[in-house]
Amino acid sequence: MSPTVPAENPEDLFVGIDVGGTNVKLGVVDDQGRVIADTFFPTEQQKGPRYAIEMACSRVHQLLDECGLEYTRVRRLGLGTPGPMDIPAGLILNPSNLPGWRQFPVRQTLSEVADRPVTFANDAAAAAFGEYWVGAGAGFTSLVLFTLGTGVGGGIIVDDVSIDGAHSHGAEIGHVRIDSRAEARVCSCGMLGHLEAYASATAVVARTADYLAAGKESVLADQPSLTPLLIAEAASGGDSLALEVVMETADYLADGIACLAHVIDPGVVLIGGAMNFGGLKTELGRDFLARIKSGVRENTFAMVAENLVIEFAQLGSGAGFVGAAGLARRDFWRSQQGASTGS
Ligand SMILES: [Zn+2]
Repeated sequence: MSPTVPAENPEDLFVGIDVGGTNVKLGVVDDQGRVIADTFFPTEQQKGPRYAIEMACSRVHQLLDECGLEYTRVRRLGLGTPGPMDIPAGLILNPSNLPGWRQFPVRQTLSEVADRPVTFANDAAAAAFGEYWVGAGAGFTSLVLFTLGTGVGGGIIVDDVSIDGAHSHGAEIGHVRIDSRAEARVCSCGMLGHLEAYASATAVVARTADYLAAGKESVLADQPSLTPLLIAEAASGGDSLALEVVMETADYLADGIACLAHVIDPGVVLIGGAMNFGGLKTELGRDFLARIKSGVRENTFAMVAENLVIEFAQLGSGAGFVGAAGLARRDFWRSQQGASTGS
C-alpha cells in the first residue's frame, strides 16, 4: 500500500478506466486495491469519446450487477487516457492513436454520465500509480516506471503525487536524450537520440534490422519480419547478435534510468510494458535486468545507486485501470479530509 492512504474502508469501491487506441480496459477495485471485476471492449475510436464513455459506464453497471454490488458504493472514478492532454482542464487534446477524440472534455463528460467525480490522468501515470499502490512499487514512497512497448512511456510518483508537470507533459521519460551524436537515431517525435529511439520495441526491431543489413550473422536473417519476441527467442537460443541487441537495450535503458535517478532519487525503478524479454521467468529476462542494474551502478552516484531498487513491474496490462482507481481513491480521501477539516 502507498504510504499516505487512510485506513481501509471495505465499503468503498472505485472504478478505473484505461482508454487505449485498441481497447478500453476497466475494473471495479476495492479500497485495498483488489480487483473485484474487470473487463474490456474495443475502443472503436471512430465512434468518438461519448460512445466509449457510455459503453464504459454501462459495463461498470453490468460488472456490479454480476457481483451483486450496489453502484452506491462506488465513490469515484479514475480515467486514464493517452496524451497529449490538459489534465487540470480535463481535456483530451489530439492523441495520435485516438484521432476521433480531439479537444474533448472527457473528465466532465464521464462525470456526468457516471454521476460521480472523476480523476483524470495520463495512462502511463495511472499505470505507475497502480504499481505504486499495489504492484512492485508497494511500500516505496517514490517510483519511476518505464514502459517498453511501441514507444517508451513512463510515470513518476512521489508521495502519492503523479509528476504531471505544468503543461501535463511531465514524465515523458522516453524522450530523455541518451545519444547526442549527429548520427544518433531519430525518435518517433522527430528529435535525435531519445531513449525511445533505442529501447522501445520498435527500436529494438529497427536496431536488429540495421545489424542484419550490415551483414551480421544471425538466425534472424532468415525471418521475413522481426518482433521482440523472435529476437528474445533467438537470444535465449544462443544467437549472439540477438543477445547483443537485448543487452545493448539494457545499456540504453540504464542511461535513461541514471538520468532519472539523479533527478528524482526514487526508491524504486520499475521496468514494465509488453517487452520484458520474459521477465523474471526466463534467464534472458533475468540477465536483461541484471545488465540494467550494473549499467545504472556504473553511471549513477553511489549514494543513489546503492539503495535504488530496480525490478520488473508486476501488474501487467491491468496496471492502468488499477492505478486510475487508485488515483480516484486518493482524491476521494482528500475530499473527505477537506470536508472534515473545513479546508
Ligand atoms: Zn522523442
